[in-house]
Amino acid sequence: MAKILVVEDNALNIKLFCDLLAAHGHQPAPVTDSREALRRAQDFAPDLIITDIQLPHVSGLELIRQFRADEGLKHVPIMAVTAYAAVGDDERIRAAGASAYISKPIAVVRFVQEVTTLLETNGEPVAG
Ligand code: MN
Repeated sequence: MAKILVVEDNALNIKLFCDLLAAHGHQPAPVTDSREALRRAQDFAPDLIITDIQLPHVSGLELIRQFRADEGLKHVPIMAVTAYAAVGDDERIRAAGASAYISKPIAVVRFVQEVTTLLETNGEPVAG
């Protein structure tokens, strides 16, 4: 069981993500307002953060930078979820500090696999 913070402004997506995580034995904490994400993360002390990139108010890239600048959160693996993966997005998202990213609409199996891998490796790149 892992504590997983989920930042996503779309109500259907956040329900889908949280239902999937709960079905796999995890404890999800949904955040729909990006302006509350940093405080919620500090309070919840998640094992993994999943964040949408396209968010109103504070973008997902800016949130990732905030998490990475926070003493208590900087080592927490982050999985970014993006609806518009354009050329260069992979580099921008990883440069901001994300450990992995997947595209929306998500493939359920891939989503669960990435979560499991990130929790097992703590977001560190796997050698080989
Ligand atoms: Mn969004």
